Amino acid sequence: MTANQPNTQFIIHRGSHQIGGNCVELATRNARILIDCGLPLDYDEQDVETQNEIRENARKWLQNCDAVFLSHYHADHYGLLNEAPQGTKVYATKETAELMKISGMFGEDLTEYLDIHPIEDTVTIKDFRVTKFDVDHSAFGACAFLFEVCGKRILYSGDIRLHGKKGVLYKNLPQNVDYLFLEGTNLGRGVRQKTETAIENEFVKQFSSNPDSLHLVWCSSQNIDRIVALYRACVRTNRVLGVDPYAAYALELAHQNRQSIPNKTFPSLEIYFPWSFTNWMIEKDRQLVLDLRRGATKLDQTDLPVNPSKYVLLYRPKLIGDLNRYISKTKVCLTNSIWAQYWEQDKSEINRLKAWIEDKPGLRQKLPDIHTSGHADVASLQKIVEHVQPKCIVPIHTEMPEKYKKLFQSYTVLAVTDETTIDLTNTKE
Ligand SMILES: [Zn+2]
Ligand SMILES: [Zn+2]
Repeated sequence: MTANQPNTQFIIHRGSHQIGGNCVELATRNARILIDCGLPLDYDEQDVETQNEIRENARKWLQNCDAVFLSHYHADHYGLLNEAPQGTKVYATKETAELMKISGMFGEDLTEYLDIHPIEDTVTIKDFRVTKFDVDHSAFGACAFLFEVCGKRILYSGDIRLHGKKGVLYKNLPQNVDYLFLEGTNLGRGVRQKTETAIENEFVKQFSSNPDSLHLVWCSSQNIDRIVALYRACVRTNRVLGVDPYAAYALELAHQNRQSIPNKTFPSLEIYFPWSFTNWMIEKDRQLVLDLRRGATKLDQTDLPVNPSKYVLLYRPKLIGDLNRYISKTKVCLTNSIWAQYWEQDKSEINRLKAWIEDKPGLRQKLPDIHTSGHADVASLQKIVEHVQPKCIVPIHTEMPEKYKKLFQSYTVLAVTDETTIDLTNTKE
């Protein structure tokens, strides 16, 4: 920042008019920090030139920044951190910091070259005093951040919801802030979101009404709350939950932070080792696979066709080829517990899975989805705003920033476009 620029400013680099890919810059004359540095959700659909441009921009934003504050471990928030210069300081909750170890399994290990600091409560970076507030979201350890700088209080909601197990956490958020950066993923969807408890009950019903089948459930291996709901449903229906080594690793990391989260030592949880995926993992990190095996109950995949009613497997479409060695003649029910649009993607593994189901309609059936959003519904967003009482709301992580004004009529809404510099010193409130 140069001498004729304002004392305090913010720039939404990305996220003012789209869901995901968040990156916000806060700056004073002495300090510059970033909040999240996410990969746009449609990154894979872009041509190479656009992808290079996205990476180039991220490198620019990350250059010479004093710290990055990471709200949670979802790629649309951390996915461009691998463009950060070596040794960049990153602050995140200890749960998020733990989950970042997973990055090494599928790409560059972020923990190797970033300077990651688990943030317990408050940290001071030059002009900024930053406090984290745990929030409920579909990512384990998600948080909001309060930035106090030059007399201004700025609250960044991160991704947030009220209908998960920890929804009540929003009541801890600070009040009467000057700015609330509020996510609005679900502004276009008028529906009220189901709770995770309702999801657990739906799993119980679905497994009970198809008692003779093996159940395969597709959910994100990092959606720990969902896996907990699934595990509880398995216990209630006398089934064993089988997880692959990747999900077992995510559960292990989460368990180290919260012992109530099921890991390999839990009685109704077993690890199955799909042949090609496990070999791939051994090549990447042999010790990790050995550690996961130690003390775990290994699921005997040859028992799947013998006792299909005994199991529920957490799986991903990519694993179906491996599983088919054992379950090609088994009655299988499949349930999606993910964002519905993933099922519509034109990806080879999804097309192969669809063909696999259609190949034997008498044996394989896709049951209704069981899912709820990781993001607040409209009524919940209103509750958050009523609690926080911000002087000004800044829309982010939304395709509909124009809807905020209608929804929050008694509040000031500052809808900005990406890459616009906003002077916080002179903004009318
Ligand atoms: Zn997000
Ligand atoms: Zn998220």
